[in-house]
Amino acid sequence: MSPDEFRRLGHELIDYIADYHTRVESLPVRSRARPGDLLGALPAHAPERAEGWDSILADIDRLIVPGLTHWQSPNFHAYFPANGSFPAILGDLLSTGLGVNGMLWATSPAATELETRVLDWLGEMIDLPASFLSTSPNGGGVIQGTASEGVLVALAAARARAMKVHARSAATTDLASRLTLYTSAQAHSSVVKAAMIAGLAAHPEDRRRVRLIGTGPDFAMNPGSLGAAMAGDVDAGLVPFFVCATVGTTSSTAIDPLDRIGPLCAAHDDRPWLHVDAAMAGAACICPEFRHMLRGVEHADTVSFNPHKWMLTSFDCTALWTRDRASIINALSVTPEYLRNAASSAGEVVDYRDWQVPLGRRFRALKLWFVIRHYGVEGLRAHIREHMRIAGVFEGLVRGDPRFEVVTPRTITLVCFRLRAREGEGQEESNKRNAALLESINASGKAMLSHTVLPIDGRPTYMLRMAIGASGTQERHIQAAWRVIVSSIDERA
Ligand SMILES: *Cc1c(COP(=O)(O)O)cnc(C)c1O
Repeated sequence: MSPDEFRRLGHELIDYIADYHTRVESLPVRSRARPGDLLGALPAHAPERAEGWDSILADIDRLIVPGLTHWQSPNFHAYFPANGSFPAILGDLLSTGLGVNGMLWATSPAATELETRVLDWLGEMIDLPASFLSTSPNGGGVIQGTASEGVLVALAAARARAMKVHARSAATTDLASRLTLYTSAQAHSSVVKAAMIAGLAAHPEDRRRVRLIGTGPDFAMNPGSLGAAMAGDVDAGLVPFFVCATVGTTSSTAIDPLDRIGPLCAAHDDRPWLHVDAAMAGAACICPEFRHMLRGVEHADTVSFNPHKWMLTSFDCTALWTRDRASIINALSVTPEYLRNAASSAGEVVDYRDWQVPLGRRFRALKLWFVIRHYGVEGLRAHIREHMRIAGVFEGLVRGDPRFEVVTPRTITLVCFRLRAREGEGQEESNKRNAALLESINASGKAMLSHTVLPIDGRPTYMLRMAIGASGTQERHIQAAWRVIVSSIDERA
């Protein structure tokens, strides 16, 4: 493809993307594809002969779009959002267009230094202590692909630090088999997955090294139970080495009390590594009035949040900060001859390959840089505040209808609600009626929500999750979603 051909097709594709964003609101949010639809429509073998671009582009609408669930629709309220914005799309385009691999400082100094500075900006925006910024002796931020990679990196660093701290103690021989980690029963599945990858759990239910701490009625980790679990493990000769607290759990955005968990970890003999997973809620902390959710974060060793969830930055972009980068590097740095270079050897530069699982890395800082500069911190705050406001409006609509109840406390923009059980209706029946309601809403194509099940009064309780935060969502969309919800109730059921 010649540069001129690329220019022409590129303009055409940009037009296509701009039009897509204009019309996405009118498309059925959830894909109506059946399993195998696309597979059945695609040729079984790669084309031997080059194809023309007319037919390639035509296949986007013909084959691909019907198989899309439209995450960029303002009517998408399922899971957590995957934000996008035009400045971020341009940043990703430029990143791919420049095509550099910033694995080492030396392989593209700008990729490393822009990331360092933009993560310092973002850290300041959520008011992290200076110890997490690159300007401190052992701190700094890095972009990971996802929060799941972030927790795995933190876990590896925690283990490296524990092994080092205990290196001289008598009982090191079997230390690796005595390390125990703690997170709440409401933590994201990526914590247990990280434990499995790290060899600390053989399967998701393996509790030999993993402690799932109970939560209170608000689904936040109970710090007393955490303290008791760690003490019990120490008595049994085990070594608590990692605690993951969640600020904004996936099911209900419960906020683990960092201001109690942090001091508990700091005071503990083994000083377990504290990781704070604020994947969704972190974005809200750019507003001073919501920053209280991170109170106590100064005790953390790593903190992460996903600008790709609620800060107008296209997937993938997870920000991870540490105030113990030496431990991360100890855990992840392996230097073969072919990567040796003068700048790294002189210790003058940051090599982000040592802060992540893969070697290679895309220039993701560009999109974050574009987003922050395009909107300004003020513009980003306004975006968060407007979503917080309309989440309140939605909660009011639910509370105003006696057929419904709000089931968990709303901390940010997620509203967990359900149809109240009817007189004499059993739990199972009531759960089924709520599941049917969700299916009917999503089948309408006019809005998309998702669900969770949480124990309420000891009973598994099915609830609908209205997660507000898609980039284009405005008050009129949540009003429309409410009308869809109400009209989807099957009064005969
Ligand atoms: C979404 C979410 C994650 C995982 O996000 P990825 O970036 O997709 O790995 C982790 N923790 C919490 C609390 C989340 O909400």
